[in-house]
Amino acid sequence: MTSPTAPTRPRRLSLLQPTGHLTLGNYLGALRPMAGQQAHADCFYGLADLHSLTVSHDPSTLRATVAEQATTLLAVGLDESTLFLQSRVPTHAQLSYLLECVATTGELGRMIQFKEKSRAGESTRASLLTYPVLMAADILLYRPEQVPVGDDQRQHLELTRDLAMRFNSAYGPVFVVPEATVPAVGARVMDLAVPTSKMSKTGSTEAGAVRLLDPPDVVRRKVARAVTDNDVGPDAVRADRAAKPGVTNLLDVLGACGGSAAGLSTYGALKRAVTDAIVAELEPVQKRYAELARDPAHVAAVFAQGAERARAVTEPVLAAATAAIGL
Ligand code: AMP
Repeated sequence: MTSPTAPTRPRRLSLLQPTGHLTLGNYLGALRPMAGQQAHADCFYGLADLHSLTVSHDPSTLRATVAEQATTLLAVGLDESTLFLQSRVPTHAQLSYLLECVATTGELGRMIQFKEKSRAGESTRASLLTYPVLMAADILLYRPEQVPVGDDQRQHLELTRDLAMRFNSAYGPVFVVPEATVPAVGARVMDLAVPTSKMSKTGSTEAGAVRLLDPPDVVRRKVARAVTDNDVGPDAVRADRAAKPGVTNLLDVLGACGGSAAGLSTYGALKRAVTDAIVAELEPVQKRYAELARDPAHVAAVFAQGAERARAVTEPVLAAATAAIGL
């Protein structure tokens, strides 16, 4: 039985789920740090289109979202990474099935996200139950030793580790058991209308989320209407997450976009500075996006090449698991 060893260069793996339009939060909290990782790691970045099928979906919307996000990944400068669509790398679904054969319905039914999402709909897709197993396959195929995960994915990473250890002890040492690490602190951007909630591509209203592709006048309007508070004191423009969540969020965004709050004493001035900083930060991305959107064949070719490399890297791991389990 072959037992592929861990990769020598550290691998960085991240999959984005193609639902909704990417936001400033996605950019500052995920995409920009992902671009920064390219200097010291072999980065695999994918669009988890199979995961988007776990809840009710519209095929043409999904296709359009995938195209938009694929173009965006290139526009933010991820061209030194291996970019791919999860559905075009069949090893993901194939390994997922093998891992389903070591997972139990009991442990999958206990996943918090499953419980929350299945409560909402009267007809729950079976793939929503098995989604964390596919996520385990997404990870284990690339043999990363460390996986940075936010709180919402911690339970799924624990399951990934359990499945890997269970498989290894039952059938042989095929998988590297990844460790969960705390993600590098990127900016956490809050909803402009509800500053106690995270800005989200699916959960925020139109007014609450700045989209990555919003033109400057839309950014200006959204920031101008951002919720602040009634403080009119001379030191109103200050960070205080508990008492002044809206203002604190604007200050965080300003800092993350390279701006400074020095000398700003009114909310009007703060909002103008925040708008200018966001517009300046997004301008090169939007310019590149517009160029790439005119050449969809180029984007498709980059992703096809990425999928080919992802297949080449993951096939030996799938082959080892397939042989170990007795097929
Ligand atoms: P999601 O859009 O929730 O699927 O998240 C995709 C990636 O973007 C994850 O790495 C999130 O941590 C990051 N992200 C999403 N929303 C925000 C936000 N408001 N602030 C910072 N990072 C975010």
